[in-house]
Amino acid sequence: MANLNLQCNCGNVQGFVKNVTPKSGNRCICFCKDCQAFPNELGQADSVLDEHGGTELFQAALSHVNITQGSDNLRCLRLTKKGLYRWYTDCCNTAVGNTVSAKIPFFGIVHSFIKDEMDRTELLGPIRGAVFIKHAKDGYEKPDTYASELVVNLRVIAKLLVWKMKGFSKPSVFFDENGRAIVKPNIIEK
Ligand SMILES: [Zn+2]
Ligand SMILES: [Zn+2]
Repeated sequence: MANLNLQCNCGNVQGFVKNVTPKSGNRCICFCKDCQAFPNELGQADSVLDEHGGTELFQAALSHVNITQGSDNLRCLRLTKKGLYRWYTDCCNTAVGNTVSAKIPFFGIVHSFIKDEMDRTELLGPIRGAVFIKHAKDGYEKPDTYASELVVNLRVIAKLLVWKMKGFSKPSVFFDENGRAIVKPNIIEK
């Protein structure tokens, strides 16, 4: 099993996800409104969103994500008070990924934080499907190779249950011992 290398656009923040395979996580596209708003907040919509407003994510176990360099450049925002913790870098505004809380062993890595584009196909396998398709823009049609939205969601839930059982929420580079985010999230309520 290989590690998936992570890096922000300028190279200050680096890390990896250990032991990835196409089965170790979930490679998918999210069209939800918040995933569309997040790169817009960062001024990164052009590099993050596809032509239909989708964000490619690899959903991995939280404790498998390691930051080896530049973690002091990590920043966090929440689009609402209870929204996901959305991580980015303040060196170059790279969208990093999303977490739910310290207790949920889940990290949705935004493709912009994956160092090598080739790794996405070679290590993570094909995209399994898309979620929140109702928010996709401009005549989106789900490719035939994608599983249904329900199957993708069930797969995420199944993964979460296993990760929870295995205690994969800790250690986490994003939350401290008390479950607090390592940096105070900036809450952007519109
Ligand atoms: Zn950077
Ligand atoms: Zn989303």
